[in-house]
Amino acid sequence: MLSNIKDLLYPSKCIGCGVWGRALCDRCLSKIEGFKLYKDMFAFGLYEGVLKELVHSAKYLGYAEPLKELVLAFRSDIEGIKSKVDLIVPVPEDPSRRRIFNHVLYFAKLLGLVLDLGVSVSLYKVRSTPPQVGLGKSDRENNLRGAFSAKESLEGRRVLLVDDVSTTGTTLEECSRVLLESGALEVQRLVVAVNP
Ligand SMILES: [Zn+2]
Repeated sequence: MLSNIKDLLYPSKCIGCGVWGRALCDRCLSKIEGFKLYKDMFAFGLYEGVLKELVHSAKYLGYAEPLKELVLAFRSDIEGIKSKVDLIVPVPEDPSRRRIFNHVLYFAKLLGLVLDLGVSVSLYKVRSTPPQVGLGKSDRENNLRGAFSAKESLEGRRVLLVDDVSTTGTTLEECSRVLLESGALEVQRLVVAVNP
């Protein structure tokens, strides 16, 4: 009933095909590859089509309904990693590119609800770094070296490190290193989409 009233007041349009009803319709959801391990990280698919639209919308427009629909649609698959992790940590924002809406933190909180786990903003960025786009592998690593730090000990915790998109994996790699240095037992990685 409540959701019917909400639909009347704030009708949703599918981000993939524009049909009215939900922020992400079943037809568009069915085109998404699905929640699974892509090499060394969990993701819903490649960074293209609906997944790309959905990340853009959350990141640049602060509209995250489609992201919420995605997480809820794959809820039971996501629950499959519950036994492997006990704390969720989002990749922090760059201080110079901070937005009103932190979509990665929101994504981490959605996962926290599904997995019934806490979200800790233990990681933070010590210094601002230029975007990684267009840099070679060693430049990317140098760019991020020492850029992240952890606020607290993560002794014995099995961390689920969360970000929106992984392009080269350098950010996740560097954040994992910091988490492990801070005592984390293991780090699993999870993103919305993998950029091939
Ligand atoms: Zn659609």
